[in-house]
Amino acid sequence: MKPYSFYELLPNGKMRFFVDATLLKDFGICERRFWYRHIQRQKRKPRLIQIQGQKTFETTDYLSFPIAIGGWWSDVMERFYNLMKDNVPITDDVVKEIVLKAWVDNRLDLGNQIDPKKFTKFGDLLGAVVMLKEYKDSQYSIDKSIWKIVGTEMGFGLRKEVFVGETNKVEVYWVGRPDLGVIESGRLLPVDHKTVNRIDGRTTGRFKPGLQMPGYCFSFETIAKELGIDRRVDRCVVNICARERPSDNPRDGKKKPRFVRAYPTFTREEIEEWRRNVVNTCERIAHCLRTQEWQWGYSSCHNIFMRDCEYLEVDDATPMARDLILKASYVVGEPWIPYVKPEEEGDEE
Ligand code: SF4
Repeated sequence: MKPYSFYELLPNGKMRFFVDATLLKDFGICERRFWYRHIQRQKRKPRLIQIQGQKTFETTDYLSFPIAIGGWWSDVMERFYNLMKDNVPITDDVVKEIVLKAWVDNRLDLGNQIDPKKFTKFGDLLGAVVMLKEYKDSQYSIDKSIWKIVGTEMGFGLRKEVFVGETNKVEVYWVGRPDLGVIESGRLLPVDHKTVNRIDGRTTGRFKPGLQMPGYCFSFETIAKELGIDRRVDRCVVNICARERPSDNPRDGKKKPRFVRAYPTFTREEIEEWRRNVVNTCERIAHCLRTQEWQWGYSSCHNIFMRDCEYLEVDDATPMARDLILKASYVVGEPWIPYVKPEEEGDEE
């Protein structure tokens, strides 16, 4: 598939953007990091690390075991709900098959070398089978009775982007890929699968405010309308699963759930606020692109998802040394490619 950029300059002088929640969230963290990451596409060179005194592994495409588990779980859920959509009974043997296939595809075995402590705590392949088996026991019959599945991995990426808005400087489209689309009690709902370390009293309240969920609502409603389904989409389902199995004997005596669902809802006014924020952020990106001035996000340098920024080494150095550090420790990555359904790739001009 040919590479793409998330922006292009139009003959009328406007900038056209194709954005998603991850891209705009990155811009909000630090404009300069956004410039390194998405404009210059600087990526750390794969580093070889010594594990258990002998083996070496490249680490850059396998960030952490919890992130790998998140990818594996999305894969597992896609297979699970595809079977449900096709009315294939999900037995315990099918559970094992789904888990094993996704385990191999997502190279989860590597976790044993990269993050042995978390890997052992999770319980290896057996822990993965237990996770899906428990999910099936808790959700399968409920979902079969309350959900009509309208699609899995429903892309509205390239050529299915949704127009968000425009000003005299920018034209903005939203792209994305909700994991699942269902009808529940007559409502059309986008579903997003998420894994967390453990579920606590605050877990379900963490999805508002945010960019991703209102984006799903707005896009779903627009796409449905184009398909002749005039339904209001005012909420999402966030299908949350804890990676850690809750203790059978918790200290406070209250056993925590392993699976929980959040239903963030959005009024018309909130969706309109989201739409304006998205367009305004793109105006700011367009301004940065034109002036090549990107603000430093000092408060994030030592804390991006509890880690140092990946460009700290560069910005920590004097301006004269930065180019040398970039050349020595980073490589230019592939251009951004928006989501395209596999069967559509051949349609590329
Ligand atoms: S080191 Fe700080 S200023 Fe530099 S890109 Fe990272 S977060 Fe931004």
